[in-house]
Amino acid sequence: MFEKSTWIRLPRNVVVGHGVIDNAVDVIDDLHLQGRPLFVTSPTPREVAADPIAADFEAAGVEPAVVTVETATFDAVERVIETAEAEDVSYLVGIGGGKAIDIAKMASDHLEMGFCSVPTAASHDGIVSNRGSVPDGDTRHSVAAEPPLAVIADTEVLAEAPWELTTAGCADIISNYTAVMDWRLAKRLKDAEYSEYSAALSEMTAEILVDNADMVRPGLEESAWIVTKALVSSGVAMSIAGSSRPASGAEHLFSHQLDRLEPGAALHGHQVGVGSIMAAYLHGGERGFWQDIRSALASIDAPTTAEELGIDDETVIEALTTCHEIRDRYTILGDGMDERAAREVATKTGVIS
Ligand SMILES: [Zn+2]
Repeated sequence: MFEKSTWIRLPRNVVVGHGVIDNAVDVIDDLHLQGRPLFVTSPTPREVAADPIAADFEAAGVEPAVVTVETATFDAVERVIETAEAEDVSYLVGIGGGKAIDIAKMASDHLEMGFCSVPTAASHDGIVSNRGSVPDGDTRHSVAAEPPLAVIADTEVLAEAPWELTTAGCADIISNYTAVMDWRLAKRLKDAEYSEYSAALSEMTAEILVDNADMVRPGLEESAWIVTKALVSSGVAMSIAGSSRPASGAEHLFSHQLDRLEPGAALHGHQVGVGSIMAAYLHGGERGFWQDIRSALASIDAPTTAEELGIDDETVIEALTTCHEIRDRYTILGDGMDERAAREVATKTGVIS
């Protein structure tokens, strides 16, 4: 008897390209949302994107409410929820880097309202996925929210973002390789729920990005195009899987642990990139795929060592030996690495010296 079922939730409109923020009113109008929006943004994105979009809305006869958030905290999420209730808005638009979008996502989840994503930096795959997280004390609080109803990613705006944010987005995509290796391992060993389509899409996304790595250069709008399309594709893979599995394995556990041990030391994408080198080593042994991951990261200027991350060697070892405890997700780390093994992988891959 056949009893399987799946529910795939995807963004309805994904608009990527040069000058597309000028079409924001049309893109959102196409969703047939009623009422006023609340724009959730932060100081710089407000100037470059939120204010111009607000002017277009006003010209079209709709006055958006706007809230500016400075840090990704629960207080900020609360403030957005309060503003949404006080201003009587009916949907949210997150305009900014990962921070503003994560906050908009979490607030809209709480308010049971739709939200749209207007990323101004291609820094991680959260800009299109249904996952959101904000720090909660010394941990992070994650939610599985709805994916955005629409994504409006203007490559002209994205190309102006600090270069390291783009390289972080690339590294987050490259880490899909090891995330999928972990997923397959978890399927083989633990019968984890697995989607062949999703795994193939996630891997192919990483492959296309690596194949086009020489076009990923500072100041090139085409870089923003390549990275953003990859982030969208990775987000779709997560939607098909109904989990973050296709884009999050041991390298993400490692990064989440670094966030606890040294909050704010390095960008999410950069941390997972370095984690991915070590995870690939653990999957493939001394002569293996890990060198390819390391050179792909190096070719787009992403960090490949603890020093380049600005994190000391001992913190890397502590994260490696403890990160399996973060969540119940089976990866190549199994039930945890012992310290000598952790030192060996980190040294052999050149992550620590
Ligand atoms: Zn990530």
